[in-house]
Formats: sequence, C-alpha cells, structure tokens
Amino acid sequence: MTTHQLGLIFSLVRFGLLAVIAAAAILGWLTGLQAFVAAAVVTAGSAVAHFVITCEKCGKSVYYKEIFANSAGRLINPIVGFPERQCSRCGADLEVQGAKYGQ
Ligand SMILES: [Zn+2]
Repeated sequence: MTTHQLGLIFSLVRFGLLAVIAAAAILGWLTGLQAFVAAAVVTAGSAVAHFVITCEKCGKSVYYKEIFANSAGRLINPIVGFPERQCSRCGADLEVQGAKYGQ
C-alpha cells in the first residue's frame, strides 16, 4: 500500500462516517447533540491521520498542501480533505509502492 492509498482510505472512512451521522440525524435516529458529539469524535480521529500519514521523505502531512510556499517561507498551508499524490514540499512521489508502510 502506498502513502497516498493509505491517506485515501482514511479520507473515505471519515467522509463515510460523517455521511452516516448526517443521515442518522436527518432520520431522527440521533439527537442534534448526539450527532454533534459523534461528528466531533470522527473529526478528532481523522486529525490523528494528519500526524501519522506523512511524506516518507520530509515528514509533511499528506493532507496539507503547500501551494504558497516560497523563498520567504511557508505562508499558508491549507488543509485539504484528500491526500496528495505528490508531496508539495519536497516533490516525493507518494504513489510509490511500499515507500513507508510496506506492502
Ligand atoms: Zn515531502
């Protein structure tokens, strides 16, 4: 499994869980507070992925995109919902088989 694939799985699980929570709230299976707490737990869990799933070369989270990086430093690092295919900091190919996490 590549770094990009692992990041993609985490993203899809997160969005899937949030969709289920939203559907349950709309259907009345959860109260508003229960849905809010469940969504907060999912979001906190996905935040862990930002620290775990990182570029194998430079260690940058694959969910941050450094599109405004320049010689003055990294100014803005927007958080994107899906992992990068190529590291925006060091240019490493994150679709290389087994680069960090093995097969
Ligand atoms: Zn990198």
